[in-house]
Amino acid sequence: MEFALVAQTLDILEKTPSKIQQASTLAMLFKKCDPSSIDKVIYFIQGTLWPDWKGMPELGIAEKGIQKAISIALNIPENEVEKLYKSLGDYGLVVERLKISRERKSAGLTAFIKSEKIAEKKLTVDEVYSTLAKIASLQGEGSRDIKIRLLASLLSSANAKEAKFIVRFVEGRLRLGVGDATIMDGLAIAFGTSRDIVERAYNIYPDLGAIAKMLAGQGPQALRNIKPIPGIPLRPMLAERASDPSEILAKAGTPCLAEFKYDGERAQIHKKGKTVWIFSRRLEDITSQYPDVVDAVLKHVKADETIIEGEIVAVDPETGDYRPFQELMHRKRKKDIHEAVKEYPVIVRLFDCLYVDGVDLTLKPLSERREWLKKIVEESEEFRLAEHIVVKDVKELEEFFLKAIESGMEGLVVKSLGPDSVYQAGVRGWLWIKYKRDYKSEMIDTVDLVVVGAFHGKGKRAGSYGALLAAAYDPDTGTFKTVCKVGSGFTDEDLAALPKMFEQYKLSYKHPSVDSDIEADVWFEPRIVMEVIGAELTLSPIHTCCKGWVKPGVGISIRFPRFVRWRPDKSPTEATTTKEIYEIYMKQLKKVTIPSEKPESY
Ligand code: ATP
Repeated sequence: MEFALVAQTLDILEKTPSKIQQASTLAMLFKKCDPSSIDKVIYFIQGTLWPDWKGMPELGIAEKGIQKAISIALNIPENEVEKLYKSLGDYGLVVERLKISRERKSAGLTAFIKSEKIAEKKLTVDEVYSTLAKIASLQGEGSRDIKIRLLASLLSSANAKEAKFIVRFVEGRLRLGVGDATIMDGLAIAFGTSRDIVERAYNIYPDLGAIAKMLAGQGPQALRNIKPIPGIPLRPMLAERASDPSEILAKAGTPCLAEFKYDGERAQIHKKGKTVWIFSRRLEDITSQYPDVVDAVLKHVKADETIIEGEIVAVDPETGDYRPFQELMHRKRKKDIHEAVKEYPVIVRLFDCLYVDGVDLTLKPLSERREWLKKIVEESEEFRLAEHIVVKDVKELEEFFLKAIESGMEGLVVKSLGPDSVYQAGVRGWLWIKYKRDYKSEMIDTVDLVVVGAFHGKGKRAGSYGALLAAAYDPDTGTFKTVCKVGSGFTDEDLAALPKMFEQYKLSYKHPSVDSDIEADVWFEPRIVMEVIGAELTLSPIHTCCKGWVKPGVGISIRFPRFVRWRPDKSPTEATTTKEIYEIYMKQLKKVTIPSEKPESY
C-alpha cells in the first residue's frame, strides 16, 4: 500500500475542522487500505507505532537530529535548514518547502524518466513503518547517527507531502486534531458497523490498529467476540460525582454498595500463571514500580488467569497509616526500586474482578463480580478487599462517609448493585458515584484542566509564566474550551520549572483543537493536565467553556482558581468535561437560588 495515500489524507484532515467530515475522510482512506497494513496506518494517524500500553515508543531524534536528517536527505547545508526553520517554525513545513522546490527543479528530469518508462519508486506504508520502528528500537552509543541516517533515507525517498508528515510524526507533533473518537467513527462508517460496537471493542481491547485489522480482515462480526485478555489492559470504568446523599441513593438504587475511596493509584492487575502485569489508570504498564505487589498477587490470588482491580495505597512504614497519593511518586522517581519498596511501602485494596480463568465477567452484575473476587483472593492485611458496607438509607450512608473521612479517605465510591450493574469499561456513568469530602465544604470540588497556553510573568515572575490558560474537554467536538487563567497555588519551585516543563509543547499558533477567544502569549499543545480548585463557578463573556449553554454568547469560568497538583496520570481527553463544568455550575446555582424549603414568610 502506497504511503502517498496516507499523506494525501492527512493533508486533507489537517484542513478539515469538522469532526464529521474528518470521519468520512478517514473512512474513505480505511476502505482503500490493505488489511495487512491498516493497523500501521491507524498508528501513524495516532502519532504512535503501537498502543501506549505496549510501552511508549521513543524515536529519540530531537530537533537538531531532524535538522541534520533533512540536510542529508536534500543534500543542503544544515544552516540553510535552520534558517528556514526560524522563519516557518515547523520542520514539517521546512522539509515540504525544500522538497517542492527540488521537485520543481527536477521536473524536466522526471519528464525524462516518465518518457523512458523508468518506474519511480513509491514509498509504501510498510517501509515507512518498519523504518520508524527500527529507529525506535535502536539504543545506546552510536545509535543517534544511525537513527538520523535512517530518517534521512526515508525522507529522500518521500515526496513533499509524505516528508512533511514523516517529520511531524518523528517530532511527535502531527497536529491533525484527530482523536480516537474520530478514528472510531471513521472505522464504523468504512466497515458498515455501529460506532457503539467499535467503542465497546476498543474499551475491552484498546488497540485501534488491531481492531481495524479485524474489521478489514474478518468484518464487524469479529468485534463481537472480543473478550478481556490477561496482559492487555481494559479501559477503566469511571465514576460520576454527586454531593447530595439522597441524590446518590436515588441514582444508585438501594440497597447499594458504599466503599472507601482510597487516595492512591488505580491498579488493573492481570495474572497469567506466574506472570503478573499492573496497568495504571492510563493503561501504562507500571509493573516494574511494584515488585512487592507482584509478589502479593502471586501469593494471594488463587486463580491461574485473572484480571482484578484495586487501588495501591502508600502507607507509613512506621505506623502503617495511609499516606497521600503523592507518596507513590517516589516509586516512579527512585532508581533503586528495592530501596523504594522499603522506604515507601504500599498496600492494595481490591474492588473489582473482570475475568477469571476464561470467564468474561464484564457483563455480570457487581455482586457476582465481587463473589468471584472473594473466592479467588486469600485476604491479608496488605492485600484485601476495599472497606465497604451495603447501605439502604441516607443515615447509613452519612455514617459510613464520616467513618471514611475519619480514616483519612477522600470519601466514598457508591456503587449500584442492580441486575444491570455491569462493568462499563471506558465509561463514566452513574453505576459508580464518587462522594468526596470537598463537596461538604463551601468550595467546589477540584477539577482537572488541560493547559493550552500561558501568559508571560511580570515582576517577581519575569522569565517564567505568570498564569496558565486552562481548558475543559468537550468530547462532542473533540476540543478544549478555556475556563480560567490559573496564576496562584504554585510554589516558587513550580513556577521556576514551568518554562522548561512546557518547552516541548510550545506552538507558534493556537492548536486546532483549542477553542479560545483569549489570545495567550504562548500556545501549547494540549497535553498537560492539572488539578485546580476555585471559589465558585461564574458566567464569563471571555471563556468558551459552555458558551451559550446558560446565556447566549456567555461561557462559564472558575473564580479564584488555584493550582493543586499536576495530574500525570490523566491524559488530556480524561480532563473534566464541559458537561461536568455545566453540571457543577447548575448545582451550585440551585443551592443559591432555589431554597429546598419554603421561606418562613411564604
Ligand atoms: P479522582 O480524580 O477523584 O481520583 P478519577 O477521575 O481519577 O477521580 P473516577 O472514576 O472519577 O476517577 O473516581 C474513581 C477513582 O477512585 C478510581 O479511578 C480509583 O483510582 C479511585 N478509587 C479509590 N477507591 C475506589 C473504590 N473503592 N472503587 C473504585 N475506585 C476507587
